[in-house]
Amino acid sequence: MTARIINGKEIATKIKQNIAKEVEKLKKKYKITPTLAVILVGKDPASEVYVGNKEKAAHLVGMNSIQFKMAADISEVELIAKIDELNKDNKIHGVLVQLPLPKHIDTKKVIKTINNKKDVDGFNVINVGKLATGQLNGDEAGMVPCTPLGCVELLKSEAGKDLAGLKVLVIGNSNIVGRPLAQLLMYEKATVTIANSSTKDLKAECLSADVIISAAGVVNLVKADMVTEKSIIIDVGINRIMLENGKSRLVGDVDFENVKDIAKAITPVPGGVGPMTITYLLKNTLNCYLKIIK
Ligand code: NAD
Repeated sequence: MTARIINGKEIATKIKQNIAKEVEKLKKKYKITPTLAVILVGKDPASEVYVGNKEKAAHLVGMNSIQFKMAADISEVELIAKIDELNKDNKIHGVLVQLPLPKHIDTKKVIKTINNKKDVDGFNVINVGKLATGQLNGDEAGMVPCTPLGCVELLKSEAGKDLAGLKVLVIGNSNIVGRPLAQLLMYEKATVTIANSSTKDLKAECLSADVIISAAGVVNLVKADMVTEKSIIIDVGINRIMLENGKSRLVGDVDFENVKDIAKAITPVPGGVGPMTITYLLKNTLNCYLKIIK
């Protein structure tokens, strides 16, 4: 059997078309353009690419995106002052600080400074707390991290809207992906197992799950003998590998070439979770805009 390929790019494009329509309507109604501020500290090439892609996507749906490029040796105080300024600026609706930050800066302290109503990444402790306690609807709803939102949508595109009772294995428990994703899945009434680098028998955990979502950042972590013809696989991992010809290529955590011959459905890397993350960043920016403007 050959797995169905879950086309994240296509699903993301449809959602972005709806966002663009919504943006157009709201711009006419409020005469203010939803605006995302992105702070980039230093010149990490991968971060520069991510920030560029976010800016392009925002412009494509009719939003503004403003980049603030800071020197790698900016002090924590200066960075926090910049965030404070953006928090107070009523023309800015979303604030994102591209991670990772240089070692001399306390990331937790910086993220905590972002106004929780402008926290498009959903990493601020207030939003983390709201997700953990289920404050997901209404005016006081928290902001939820983009990648987990994208993963749930991809899973629903394959498994149907109702995830209740599905056995989902989430590999990785970071604050950015694994942990918030597991929480979202619990609200969907899935039966969730979270694996980490100390998990004793990952193969057994994989084989007993209906869905495997891998967010570990480990090449070939999920292999062909760890999946069945019923497995739905969402690969969050982004790993750069060197090829024999001296070039490099991006791969996920899953041995895609061999797993796709066995599993029921799988997301590719690139073209799976990545486009969904950016799309949910736009959706979150729109949510922040609505929280602020209403
Ligand atoms: P992280 O390093 O913060 O966390 C990795 C997690 O994986 C940890 O909980 C660790 O315990 C677990 N892990 C590591 N090795 C393992 C193993 N052998 N078995 C089981 N668990 C193991 O990483 P992160 O920020 O959560 O990102 C994870 C991956 O997802 C990275 O490759 C990252 O680039 C990618 N990512 C992709 C997107 C996207 O949009 N596609 C977004 C965010 C992160």
